Amino acid sequence: MKTIGLLGGMSWESTAEYYRLLNEFTRDRLGGLHSARCVVYSVDFAEVERLQAEGRWTEAGELLAAAAGALEAAGADLVLLCTNTMHKVADRVQAGIGVPLLHLADATADAVKAAGIGRVGLLGTAFTMEQDFYRGRLASAGLDVRVPDAGGRALVHRVIYEELCRGVVREESRAAYRAVIEALAADGAEGVVLGCTEIELLIGAADSPVPVFPTARIHAEAAVTAALATHG
Ligand code: GLU
Repeated sequence: MKTIGLLGGMSWESTAEYYRLLNEFTRDRLGGLHSARCVVYSVDFAEVERLQAEGRWTEAGELLAAAAGALEAAGADLVLLCTNTMHKVADRVQAGIGVPLLHLADATADAVKAAGIGRVGLLGTAFTMEQDFYRGRLASAGLDVRVPDAGGRALVHRVIYEELCRGVVREESRAAYRAVIEALAADGAEGVVLGCTEIELLIGAADSPVPVFPTARIHAEAAVTAALATHG
């Protein structure tokens, strides 16, 4: 079994979920008392969020590349960057390590295509919904990506930073997200990517008329598959 490095803390609410999912998938595949071999490097999210808000992406990339290097030094054979948004600096993070970074958008695109879906809605932070680093990666995998209108994007972004990353799950926000998802489905989305690793703490399959793709779960499952690839 390979050792999985988790570059987390963005926010820790979803990193805790990753940790649980990695262990559950490993137990399900191997049985008995098996659990995931892993190392976690959890950053102070306030520092990262300030760099995001101020557009200081180069510094954010350096910070995360150093953390990824520490994971490699601690024995990680592959690294997960446990946030969709910070994949904006995925190339910098990968450049700092000699082991693979398992890209979240690639794992997500594979899951969407395996479900036979070509047109997806995308929910995430404003960075993820509005910039090209993530949408473009899904599009180059062959997916037609739709995002909410400006009001919907602002709502989805606000709930992530003001509620979900602080451990707050509100019924009103779930209802508001449902309305955004329904609008995407009405616009032709055949599925919806929950493209922020905290959204699956709020939204599940029952909240959507079309299949949802929870990215922390998809990423964790892909990591366990990679970690066990040579297991015999
Ligand atoms: N975890 C979130 C994501 O998947 C947002 C937090 C962040 O900005 O990194 O995008």
